[in-house]
Amino acid sequence: MNKNTELAELLFGHITESPEYYENKYPERNLPEGAVVSRIGPSPTGFVHLGNLYNAIIGERLAHQSGGAFFLRVEDTDAKREVEGAVELVISAMDFFGIKFDEGAAASGDSGNYGPYRQRLRKEIYQCYAKKLVEAGMAYPCFCTEQELKEMREEQISKKLNFGYYGEWAKCRDLPLDEIKTRIENGEPYVLRFRSNGDEKNHIEVFDGIRGTLKLSENYQDFVLLKSDGIPTYHFAHVIDDHLMRTTHVVRGEEWLATLPIHVQLFDTLGFKRPIYCHTAVLMKMDGGTKRKLSKRKDPELGLEYYRAEGYAPRAVWEYLLTVLNSNFEEWRAENPDAPIDDFKFTLEKMSSSGALFDIMKFEDVSREVLLRTKAADIYDEFAEWLKEYDPEFYTLFTRDREYSEKIIDVGRNGARPRKDLTSWKQAREFLSFYFPETFKLEDEYPERVSDEDRKEIFRRYLETFDINDDNQQWFQKIRDITADMGYAVKPKDFKKNPDMYKGSVSDVSSVIRVALTGRTNSPDLWEICHIIGESEMRRRIENA
Ligand code: GLU
Repeated sequence: MNKNTELAELLFGHITESPEYYENKYPERNLPEGAVVSRIGPSPTGFVHLGNLYNAIIGERLAHQSGGAFFLRVEDTDAKREVEGAVELVISAMDFFGIKFDEGAAASGDSGNYGPYRQRLRKEIYQCYAKKLVEAGMAYPCFCTEQELKEMREEQISKKLNFGYYGEWAKCRDLPLDEIKTRIENGEPYVLRFRSNGDEKNHIEVFDGIRGTLKLSENYQDFVLLKSDGIPTYHFAHVIDDHLMRTTHVVRGEEWLATLPIHVQLFDTLGFKRPIYCHTAVLMKMDGGTKRKLSKRKDPELGLEYYRAEGYAPRAVWEYLLTVLNSNFEEWRAENPDAPIDDFKFTLEKMSSSGALFDIMKFEDVSREVLLRTKAADIYDEFAEWLKEYDPEFYTLFTRDREYSEKIIDVGRNGARPRKDLTSWKQAREFLSFYFPETFKLEDEYPERVSDEDRKEIFRRYLETFDINDDNQQWFQKIRDITADMGYAVKPKDFKKNPDMYKGSVSDVSSVIRVALTGRTNSPDLWEICHIIGESEMRRRIENA
């Protein structure tokens, strides 16, 4: 037995399967030409990132537009970072946003022919390929302790050399087999390192689906493949997984660009076909005139939970992310206002590789548009579902009379210039509260220009002349008459020109009625509101006022 075979047996005697076994078990997928197989590989840290969704949309679109497959793989190799319930959190977040997986980890049980889809359950698979690398002389055990590595680093700093485990610094690279045996027998912990033949001065070319051909320095570091507990690092795990799961496109954040040379080196060494890497730009925001990265600490909108709690419709988030992802999406939407979002043809070519700007104001705008295009009946259902969880009291009011609630959703939405009053469920809850006697309250002040006496007089005359059978114009004419009678200008511009001649204008007079009826100085059409809340509730509010 040669040294490498002996070493492989020593380290991985318990591994009985060969790589061929797995190659056969997970054959090439039988898919049409050009079909994309993609995935997301979130780590269960308890925080689901907007970036996870951003990347998921890309992978999902590429896969499903091409008749390929899309799956969810849980990358749980870092037990230290994992928190209880985190896997369920990722799954439910993706489910909430309507990301459709064909296979992978799922709440109802994992499914698919390329599993297991949780890395910790794949230990033997990784070790099988690790064994193969040891046999080929491409991997070796390293016994260096944290302390030794730290000292090495300090020395490298003082000598102004590159950090890391390479060349003469790679102390365990050529340990004699006997020494390895003894140290293992003595129970010394070790990691498994890759033996790199790369040279920093060499350049490699890697094609990136978003960035085009990249020229990178070859990897020359003996990086870690398996940690001391036999669990792989991300580098090794994803290479084995994406190969065996037959991934064609790896969509992930640009933070992985730095270690991309390691990844392609592994693909090449193992004789695997490289996938197309697609590195997405980091999400940025404007902050006081400068662009900066979204931060977990400062920006709640970075967490997916935020959108659910604030009550944004998941498709509004999709729709907005597509505007960020593809420069031609907005134009398409303008031309196809009612088309289902999946009709849009997403392409990597239309993606920008520089920082993607997340603009919350723009997002809210998109959200208003999306809700405007949504039928009242659907808004009712989605809103009610949110309320049930986040505001049970208002839920009771809102669902008391479905017909009434659908009507209030639709106020002002159907004219030639429809109002875009609704942004999110949280905002809708505030916005619609005045329609219900139980949640109606005075929020704004009455206009200053109208004295207390005049206010009472306006109310008195308004109630006296009000007729439920008046149409909008007749109704408003009566307000104009009150305005003129009481010494206010019927045309606001007359008041502007001659402020001394009037007490105020028609807008002050309507504002008095508006505040009394809605509690606010800003509201949809008052005549419509009177008809919705009904004459008796209308009279009650004015009398109370
Ligand atoms: N587990 C990696 C992360 O959470 C996934 C990167 C990838 O998709 O390959 O960043």
